[in-house]
Amino acid sequence: MEKLDENTLESWLDNVREYAFDGHVADYIPALSKQNPEKLAVSIYYLDGECVYAGDHQECFTLQSISKVISLALALIDNGEEYVFQRVGMEPSGDPFHSIYRLEQHRPSKPLNPMINAGALAVTNMIRGQNADEKVGRLLSFMHEMTDDRTININEAVAESEFQSAYLNRSLLYYLRQHDVIKGNIEETLDVYTKQCSIDVNVCQLSRIGALFANEGRDLHSNRQIIPKHFARICKTFMVTCGMYDASGAFAIKVGIPAKSGVSGGVMASLNHFGGISVYGPSLDKKGNSVVGLKLLEILSNRYDLSIF
Ligand code: GLU
Repeated sequence: MEKLDENTLESWLDNVREYAFDGHVADYIPALSKQNPEKLAVSIYYLDGECVYAGDHQECFTLQSISKVISLALALIDNGEEYVFQRVGMEPSGDPFHSIYRLEQHRPSKPLNPMINAGALAVTNMIRGQNADEKVGRLLSFMHEMTDDRTININEAVAESEFQSAYLNRSLLYYLRQHDVIKGNIEETLDVYTKQCSIDVNVCQLSRIGALFANEGRDLHSNRQIIPKHFARICKTFMVTCGMYDASGAFAIKVGIPAKSGVSGGVMASLNHFGGISVYGPSLDKKGNSVVGLKLLEILSNRYDLSIF
């Protein structure tokens, strides 16, 4: 297909702008409730290294659940596939991301997949490092490596806000600790998790990571293998089966591109032989996906026949 230029992207944004009024910004993490629901940005990072973008492309937003793909890649690199999937399953849950009840249904207890919070917390607990600071430092370095951008950092206000209000994630961690799914100190794992969720990015940086996954884990510019191909494939497969919360099935039908969303309103999509696409629009639907992000990806996918199916 022909490459989209920035004017075309800008006009697609104008077509979907009004959908922002159909949703609400997340407020269960107090700092996220301050986001402006009308912010809107999109970026495409092509495999040849060209990046096009439109809208509020300089606006930073926190990764939130999009970070689950990144921590999974790092945990796989650190521990290997067998170790990771002894502790976390591979099946979609069909439940909301912070649901606790399926943990009770399996013996021995095992979170269903790394994209729901229980699984993501277990994955974060597997990241190597002597203490929380070292683990967070390794996650940040991994982000810098993937984007070739050392300016990426943690939004401390969002991290602190989530850490103080993460009663449900704390309960998940206590449950996982009781059943030996995770090791070590609960507050430390929660600290790493809330900081990984609070890594600040803009759409261009995020689309570059999407493109790296699309490029089988190789950096687009240096061709260096940053994530082993097989692990990049595992991550993209989870993006298809459970990347868009309990709307992943509908998203696969309507859009058909591996993607992961977060409650900040970001979406990172990754399409082999094409590149990375990212969208930011903080107004969310009831499942936690960006309403404008969903609409825009649906339009782009249909217009340019991007579905992998
Ligand atoms: N930090 C958020 C949480 O665990 C991430 C949720 C999300 O983006 O789905 O509640």
